Amino acid sequence: MIELQSSYNATMIVLSCMIAAIASYTGLSMALQYAAASRGRSRLFWLGCGAAAMGTGVWAVCFYEISAYRWTVGIDYDYSMVVLTLVVAIAAAALLLPSVSRDRLRTRELLASGGLAGVAAAFLPYAGLHAMRSSLHPRFDAGTFWLFATVVAAAFIVVLWIAHRFQQSRGPKRKVIAALLLGAAFTTSIHVGLASATWTLPGEADLFSWNGSSATLSFFLGFATLFVIGIALATIFIERFWKAQMRRQLERDMRIESLFRHSQDAVFSYTLDGKLLDANLAAFRLTGYEWETLRQLNLREIISPEYHHTVTVNFKSTVAGQSRNFDAALLHRSGRRLEVNNTNVPVLVEGQVVGVYTIVRDITERKQAEWQMNYMAHHDELTGLPNRRLFEQQLVKAIAEQQQDGQSAAVLFLDIDRFKLVNDSQGHDVGDLLLRSVADRLSDAVKNAGIVARLGGDEFSVLLTGGIAREEAQAIAARINRELDIPFSLRGKDVHITASIGIALFPEDGDSLISLMKNADTAMYSAKDNGKNTFNFYDLSMNDSLFERVQLENELRKALDRGEFFLVYQPQVELATGKVVGVEALIRWQHSSKGLVSPAEFIPLAEETGMIVPIGEWALRTACVLARRWSHTKVGPLRMSVNLSSRQFLSPDFAESVERVVRETGMPPELLDLEITESMTMDVNRSIETLNQLKTLGVSISIDDFGTGYSSLSYLKSFPVDRLKIDQSFVRQMQSDTNDRSIVATIISLAHNLNLHVVAEGVETASQSEFLAQQGCDEMQGYYISKPLKAFDVEEFILARAAM
Ligand code: C2E
Ligand code: MG
Ligand code: MG
Repeated sequence: MIELQSSYNATMIVLSCMIAAIASYTGLSMALQYAAASRGRSRLFWLGCGAAAMGTGVWAVCFYEISAYRWTVGIDYDYSMVVLTLVVAIAAAALLLPSVSRDRLRTRELLASGGLAGVAAAFLPYAGLHAMRSSLHPRFDAGTFWLFATVVAAAFIVVLWIAHRFQQSRGPKRKVIAALLLGAAFTTSIHVGLASATWTLPGEADLFSWNGSSATLSFFLGFATLFVIGIALATIFIERFWKAQMRRQLERDMRIESLFRHSQDAVFSYTLDGKLLDANLAAFRLTGYEWETLRQLNLREIISPEYHHTVTVNFKSTVAGQSRNFDAALLHRSGRRLEVNNTNVPVLVEGQVVGVYTIVRDITERKQAEWQMNYMAHHDELTGLPNRRLFEQQLVKAIAEQQQDGQSAAVLFLDIDRFKLVNDSQGHDVGDLLLRSVADRLSDAVKNAGIVARLGGDEFSVLLTGGIAREEAQAIAARINRELDIPFSLRGKDVHITASIGIALFPEDGDSLISLMKNADTAMYSAKDNGKNTFNFYDLSMNDSLFERVQLENELRKALDRGEFFLVYQPQVELATGKVVGVEALIRWQHSSKGLVSPAEFIPLAEETGMIVPIGEWALRTACVLARRWSHTKVGPLRMSVNLSSRQFLSPDFAESVERVVRETGMPPELLDLEITESMTMDVNRSIETLNQLKTLGVSISIDDFGTGYSSLSYLKSFPVDRLKIDQSFVRQMQSDTNDRSIVATIISLAHNLNLHVVAEGVETASQSEFLAQQGCDEMQGYYISKPLKAFDVEEFILARAAM
């Protein structure tokens, strides 16, 4: 029996060691780099490739070692055993690689894979020798084999542990050292295994004089070597490519991470079932919560409840793969509400949605600006009420709804009577205060029955919905009239106003925005014509009166040019002597088709349109021309009273225009008396200024219709006026109404206390005249003396009276 030993080809041994190292390195590369970075099949693939490379290398080592012996006998191989050896080698590698590449290697795994790989490695040289077919017979002692296998297994456990430690450390050579260790472990075990075999030789052949490798095995070995080297080269190439790829990937990841961390918008990362995975700094800033708190919060708690549904729906769409953009509101930790815009994007990995990113932008300021703008676009700045635009929108909506439900609605148009007067006389700030107070009272009067809006200027409107009946609309309109009739206290002054209201009902008076608005407006004008401070329901005939009104307005504009105006004069008599001391000029309009139009009808219209200014100046000039003429005739110098309208009186250059007329007509100013009404003197300072200017011209001033206005008597003291004209309504009822009697008596004595003359208007009877005389009234005027007369007639009247 001959023991197999120490006679081998040294080159082959060196070559086999190199192949073992290259194969181990290649296998490790694949396992550590690619398999560790992959999952599922791709991990298996890389592990498989690694095991194949390493196993093939180890197998080649085994047969190189066998071939390295110098055999003297002819040797062939049993190729099924050769293949089995290859399988065992690959199996050993396959046992080792997953364990080396694992991050954490548990002792159980270390013992199992290291031990099994060791047994397989120990089995390799025996299998290799068994594959030989020759006259030599290897002899194995089972005891020795198992002893050997145990030692190799123990060695492999240690090697695996060390290799695993090396691959864990981050140094560049970790793989080389681990590969050398594994390669050395395989080569050594194969070498020792081969060396431990004993052989029996049948004849006297010289065992080691012949190189025993067969041609086929050489081919296999060559192929295996090429395979291992090829794979090693491929690995180096792939490794470079992979590294570059990894670097790029890493850079991209870092860029994305940087975008995520430092984005000015808050970014939240969710799992598919809505669990918060991560959030950036901006998210903490936005919500006011730290990460720890935010993580544990139920996110519904920080979403404003009205948006829960929206947020859920959009989240589901994103889980289904769609990006979504929507607005919502969050609740800051402090309880503050934040308006936000959200963008949901699906997180895709290899085509699969694995999560959701929500990018949240704080748009509170923008939203507030939008609301503000929207509010401003739909509300009146002064009163805060809805404006015309919003009112019309609401009306259109209401029409559609009421139409569907078959219910009725009502539109009320309200216009403050003589608002202009307040505005012009008291100043715009008081006018504004008044409008605000009117808005408040309107809202109080309407309550929840409808919407109150300001359409502009002194026009308000009310929309009553919810099946409102005619009677209810009427009750509300009456309530509004009543409320507004109570004087307003503005800046310490009582201001009294009234309003005219027009009502159009849906559907009978109109079923569209335009028709309802137009008809309510018409009804409002009709209420104004009916004496103001009242309400009127729309009816078809009103369109005619509106038309008439528009026509009258047009004709009024032309009347002055056409010379259709003329003046009549009503004498004023001194009560004590019965002498005519003056006349009041009263305007008349001789309309081409309508005949004589009363000033009560056209003066308000002329006021509204501003036509009163040229008409008033014409009246003043005409009266002055006549008075001046009279002063040179038998009639003699006579006081001429001329009525002024508020628009005239309040125009800035009024005093100058009077001065001009006086100068141009040559009228002695002391004969001119200007009649103003109490309402014109509401702006006390301004009135005093104008009155003083007029007084310096030398004209006198009377307060007309005294007692009907709301001016405070105390102001009379400060006004440079000469006369009070007691309104005819008191004079008319003096006899029947003791109240009126005492009012007249009081006015007379008050006026005298203030050194003012008193003129009683509308005196129609002798008893009225007597009573006034008893009370010491200075002058009177009225049908009892004479109706207003044309110039020629008044001259005759005066001359006749003088002759009496
Ligand atoms: P007024 O200034 O108070 O004029 C007195 C009004 O009473 C006149 O009405 C006159 O015809 C009427 N009248 C006089 N005596 C009696 C009487 O005994 N009984 C009755 N029932 N009425 C009497 P008239 O002319 O229709 O004028 C109405 C108002 O029109 C005037 O009231 C005045 O405010 C205004 N007006 C008249 N002419 C002018 C004018 O030239 N300019 C301006 N701005 N207003 C004028
Ligand atoms: Mg008058
Ligand atoms: Mg009067």
